[in-house]
Parts: sequence; structure tokens; C-alpha cells
Amino acid sequence: MFTLTTVLGEIMVETSVAQVSLEKQLIKGSEIDSTFKYELVKLSGSERILSCFQCGTCTSDCPVARYNGSYQPRTLIRMAILGLKECVLKSDTLWLCAACFVCTDRCPQDIEVASVIRVFRNLAVENNCLPQVFRDQLEAVLETGYAYRISELRMKKRELQNLPPLPKGNAENIYKILKGIKIVEETQKIKGDRTHVKHQ
Ligand code: SF4
Ligand code: SF4
Repeated sequence: MFTLTTVLGEIMVETSVAQVSLEKQLIKGSEIDSTFKYELVKLSGSERILSCFQCGTCTSDCPVARYNGSYQPRTLIRMAILGLKECVLKSDTLWLCAACFVCTDRCPQDIEVASVIRVFRNLAVENNCLPQVFRDQLEAVLETGYAYRISELRMKKRELQNLPPLPKGNAENIYKILKGIKIVEETQKIKGDRTHVKHQ
């Protein structure tokens, strides 16, 4: 058994049982994808990821990390380089990035950190790791033209206060723009199947 110490904490690799312990989370050796970093260097936006020397500038200057300590772009990058593909793609914090590009401007290694996060998100969608909340939002957009469904109760309250009805979203046009995108087509199908069941 040998021990490595990284900025993420202690990583223990026990060669006999091939187990890795990372931030109290047990990860089997078989879950490490050592090819992930090579996949990333080929993708537009994350080409320079291997130059990361873990200085932490991206995290310390990130406005989201300032308010939510669980979001650390540096940690996500480290995890990706270590091959923890599934942990990165299933990370809830991945979706907190506000795409403000401060990290990209400040990285001393010229890594496009914000673009790396975008690449992670795209891969998360491709690998079926999109959180349900965003699936619901997409379904709402395709159904109503709005990211959030406006409840009947809210409409009634507006009526009672003599407020005009809210403008209708143009879901049809939105679909025309997004047509062909895999997740959009999948969501459209789920929506269609649900409507079909409702009318049976
Ligand atoms: S600022 Fe750049 S080099 Fe420093 S930790 Fe972030 S990505 Fe890595
Ligand atoms: S782009 Fe995302 S990761 Fe980078 S500083 Fe802004 S919120 Fe943080």
C-alpha cells in the first residue's frame, strides 16, 4: 500500500484490493478512468487541463465559491485529472457555475476554466448525468416556453387582482431552434408519451 497526499486530502491506493479513498468517499480502482484526461484534452475548451498545477486561483476568485464553499472548480479539475470521471459528471456542484469567466481570466496557466466546466456539463448530459431539476426545466420550456411552469393558482390570483394574463411563451418556435439536440428529442418523446398516457 502507498499513500499520496494531494490538495483534495488524502488519497489512499491499496494495490491489493484496488480501493481509493477520497474525501471520505470510497472509490473502487475499477471506477477510475485513466483515459478521461486524454479525452478532455481533445475537446474544445479543455485542451489545456493537464497544465493545472492546483494553485487554487480559480476557486479563490470564483464569486460562486465565495458564497458556496462546496463549489470548487480546482477540485473538479483535479478529480478529472485523477480519472474520477463519474464523480465529476455526477457532481451536483458542477451546475453552480455562473459562467462569469473570472477564473478563465485569472488562471496563470491559461486554462479556460469556465470552458472546462462547460465541457464537464456537456459530458454529463451525454452520459445521462443531467440532474432531474434541469430535465424538468427543459420539459417545461418545450411545453410552455417558460423554464418554470406557471401554476393555475398564480393565474387565478392575477385575475382576482385584475392583472392582465401573462404572455404565452412560444414553445413551438423554441423547439424549432433546439430540434435535433439529443436531450431535446428525448425530452420531447417523454413529453409525448406522457400526453398519450393522459389521453388514454
Ligand atoms: S487557476 Fe488554473 S492552474 Fe490554478 S487551480 Fe485553477 S485551473 Fe489550475
Ligand atoms: S465561470 Fe464559473 S467557475 Fe469560473 S469564476 Fe465564474 S462561476 Fe466560478
